[in-house]
Amino acid sequence: MSNNTEAIPVLKEKIATSTRILVRERLIGPFGHPSARIPGTDLVAVLGHTHDDVKDLAETEPSDVVVMDLEGEVVEGSMDAPGERFMHTEIYRARPDVGAVIHAHPMHCIAFSMTDVPLAPVWHLCTLFADGVPVHKSAVQIDNTERGRAVAAALADRKGILLKGHGLTVVGSTIEEATVSAVNLERSARLQIMAQGIGSVEAIDRSELTDELLTDGLTLEEYTHTQWDYWAVELAR
Ligand SMILES: [Zn+2]
Repeated sequence: MSNNTEAIPVLKEKIATSTRILVRERLIGPFGHPSARIPGTDLVAVLGHTHDDVKDLAETEPSDVVVMDLEGEVVEGSMDAPGERFMHTEIYRARPDVGAVIHAHPMHCIAFSMTDVPLAPVWHLCTLFADGVPVHKSAVQIDNTERGRAVAAALADRKGILLKGHGLTVVGSTIEEATVSAVNLERSARLQIMAQGIGSVEAIDRSELTDELLTDGLTLEEYTHTQWDYWAVELAR
C-alpha cells in the first residue's frame, strides 16, 4: 500500500479550512475534530490535540493537523491525536465508503439527542440524512477502540449519528461533503426546533428527493462545493 504522500498536504489544508468553518458555525471549540482518510492508505489526517497550547481553533493551520494510523498512533506531526480518535479510526475500518469524519458538539443537535423526537428531513439543504440519524445512547468519551466500535455499529450505513448528551458525528465521501453536511445538520436541527415551536412539523416528501437523497435538481457536487467554496471565501474576509 502506498503512503500517497502527495495527498497529505492537500488534506491538511482542507482539514484546517474545515476546522475554521466548524468554529465559525459554533460546531466545535475547544472540543471537536474533523478528519480525512488519505486515499489508498490506512492513514488518517486529523486535527491534532491542540488543548495543551490553548490555541484559537479559528486560526487553525495545516501544521495543526497530524497523520495517524488506524490504531490511533501518530505517524506524522508534533502533537497527539485527539482523545476521541477511536471514533474516527473505527468508522474508517467499518465503512470503506467514508472518506471523512466530523465529530462536533453543536447545541441544537445535542438537544435532539436528549429526546425521543427524531431529526427529520425538514430543510431542503439537509435531506442527505433522510434515512434517519440514529442516537448512540451513551455520553462517555469515545476514548478507546471498543467505544469507537460501538459508535461505528450504531452509525451502521447512515450519514450521521447523535451521541446522547454529547454531540454528533457526520461522515462523507470527502472532507468538503462531511463539513457541509455537519453544518447543515446543525442548521436543520435549529430550524426544526423553531418550526416545532410554531406548530406540527411536516418533513420534505421522499418523492422529491433524488437517489442521492438531495432535493430534486441539486447535485452532490453543487451541494458540496457551492457551500464549501462560499464559506471558504467568507473565512478570508
Ligand atoms: Zn466529543
